[in-house]
Amino acid sequence: MVDSYANEHILERYHRERIITDKVRQAEAERLAAQQAREAKAAADAQAAAQKKQKAEEEKQRLRDKRAADRARKARQAAKEAKEKEAKEKKHAEEVKQRQAADAAARKAKAQAAAEKKAKMPQYYKEWKAECEKAKACPPNTLKKFPAPPKEACDCHLVGCVARKKDTGLGACKHDVEALLRASGEYDHNWLRHERLAWHPDRFGRRCSPEWQEIGKKKATELFEIFEDLIEGR
Ligand SMILES: [Zn+2]
Repeated sequence: MVDSYANEHILERYHRERIITDKVRQAEAERLAAQQAREAKAAADAQAAAQKKQKAEEEKQRLRDKRAADRARKARQAAKEAKEKEAKEKKHAEEVKQRQAADAAARKAKAQAAAEKKAKMPQYYKEWKAECEKAKACPPNTLKKFPAPPKEACDCHLVGCVARKKDTGLGACKHDVEALLRASGEYDHNWLRHERLAWHPDRFGRRCSPEWQEIGKKKATELFEIFEDLIEGR
């Protein structure tokens, strides 16, 4: 009876301890599970944070790359524009240089032509004067040709002069006549007054042949008026 009781007591104690042990184990297991869950969550959070950080880094890098690319593009554009500007300026300078050279050459040619003409003027005057003397020596009513100033000596290109030369048929304006007369070496007021006499229309008209008289008088009148202008200093 005693043994049975003892056994029962032992058994009961065993059961009790077993229950306690189970509870402890279960509590331990729950604690472990909770800890694992916390750790797993912490690990997941850390991973998420790391991913977020990496993404942010990548975005930053992307922006840095984009800015660098923009800067490089702008620098290339600026370099291209600078090169184009330089080429344009160079071309312009070249054109200006060429134009200046052409202008200088034209001026030189003009000056040379003027000098050559001036050198020939005394000869032109001499030949013209001889023609005039021949005309003056003509018997009345016989002259059929006007001793016009030589064409080579008459190159005034002023617009008004060109039109008038064509209109009168004389082919010389007062500038042409003045240049020619100055080549005589005798040009002065009194000399002009004397030279003018020969071109008075009535006086000149008497030498003209009747059928040509009108044309001859028109040209003489023009020359007479040019002498008047020169005498008056107009
Ligand atoms: Zn003129």
